[in-house]
Amino acid sequence: MSEEKISDGARGSPRGVTVLGSTGSIGVSTLDVVLRHPGRFRVVALTANTQVDRLLEQCRQTQAGKAVMLDHEAAIRLREKITAAGLRTQVLSGSAALEQVATLDEVDIVMAAIVGAAGLQPTLAAVRAGKRVLLANKEPLVMSGNIFIREARHSGAELLPIDSEHNAIFQCMPAGYTTGSGHTTVRKILLTCSGGPFREAEPADLVNVTPEQACAHPNWDMGRKISVDSATLMNKGLEMIEACRLFSCDPDCIQILIHPQSVLHSMVEYKDGSVLAQLGNPDMRTPIAYALAWPDRIDSGVKSLDFLDVARLDFEEPDFTRFPCLQLATDAARAGGTAPAILNAANEIAVAAFLDNGIGFTDIPWVIERTLAEVNVSPDTDLDIVLRDDAEARAAADRFIAQLHYRPVRRLQ
Ligand code: NAD
Ligand code: MG
Repeated sequence: MSEEKISDGARGSPRGVTVLGSTGSIGVSTLDVVLRHPGRFRVVALTANTQVDRLLEQCRQTQAGKAVMLDHEAAIRLREKITAAGLRTQVLSGSAALEQVATLDEVDIVMAAIVGAAGLQPTLAAVRAGKRVLLANKEPLVMSGNIFIREARHSGAELLPIDSEHNAIFQCMPAGYTTGSGHTTVRKILLTCSGGPFREAEPADLVNVTPEQACAHPNWDMGRKISVDSATLMNKGLEMIEACRLFSCDPDCIQILIHPQSVLHSMVEYKDGSVLAQLGNPDMRTPIAYALAWPDRIDSGVKSLDFLDVARLDFEEPDFTRFPCLQLATDAARAGGTAPAILNAANEIAVAAFLDNGIGFTDIPWVIERTLAEVNVSPDTDLDIVLRDDAEARAAADRFIAQLHYRPVRRLQ
């Protein structure tokens, strides 16, 4: 404890941090960790979509120099409140401002915690500027992970995974391992999955699932989009693709294990038969603290894992039939090219429609499957091609959702 305080103060000037998506679940956990270490980190910029009051409160807490609202009207409201509160935070708006605060010279670390493809451009800008980039925002990696890895090699950016499973895998990889590079001693990666809120549900019951039921995750408290992804198991599909990108392997090297207790966050099996695992309470502050301070270890505020309380660790095979999103993601990973970007785009559109009560829970895989069948897959070497196929997939998914509105029959497969 005292050693931590000494090392915090003895480290020279604190490292500048920008949190993209600071008002979300990951953003809030990031600020919780950062504010525990004032000698080590300094908040340079915070960003949000439309949540004015929460961002105002965060500016007050962190004394951030800059705050960006994507939405211009929201930025005007925030600026008025910042002035009224006597704060000195400069308020900016729009997507160019997101990139600006991700690349400032005074920024050393960028937490990428925007949800969905919207985070792609500012995160890539941070990578190109050679920052330490903490990758929570998985969708851009699924869409264009190879481009991220290539750009990081070029700029010297450090890519550190925040997704609990990928952070666990990273912690279990050979010493000195850098994301995106090959490995000759690893035999396979074991990716764990809680199973979500419907792990034991009857297939017929899934038809009537509401957004509130889908967002009530048994172990993790997360944003609404990832909560739905966890309920359909698309989250695990996206994570399998994310793991292929970050750890330079193909889907056949990854085994998905349902592990309902969510305390073993993933494992790496080596050639010699050794299996290394990372465990801890299901609290995102652990991977966040790990990546913020890497290769050091700092206090995260997470309580000790009580093994006697956990008592047992269970593992089951995932059910690809009951959760077709997992099969769709595996197929897209095997197809390669822009197939994962098409899958991700269709999923984002379908999940947004579900959260809006526009389509049923079991319509989500239906929309994705049809979109994948409709949009041609291209090589994913160029960002423009990825973005073109992403846009095409969103338009196709919108068309399929419109069809569902004309014939609102739930399709369960
Ligand atoms: P969230 O919905 O709670 O927060 C999203 C943040 O992004 C908010 O600050 C919001 O204002 C901002 N935002 C939303 N749309 C935006 C847009 N179009 N432009 C700019 N900003 C926008 O989401 P979350 O649960 O914190 O997840 C963030 C990312 O981290 C996701 O990609 C998710 O998959 C990933 N992730 C989250 C968890 C978790 O425990 N929450 C775990 C692993 C990975
Ligand atoms: Mg995860």
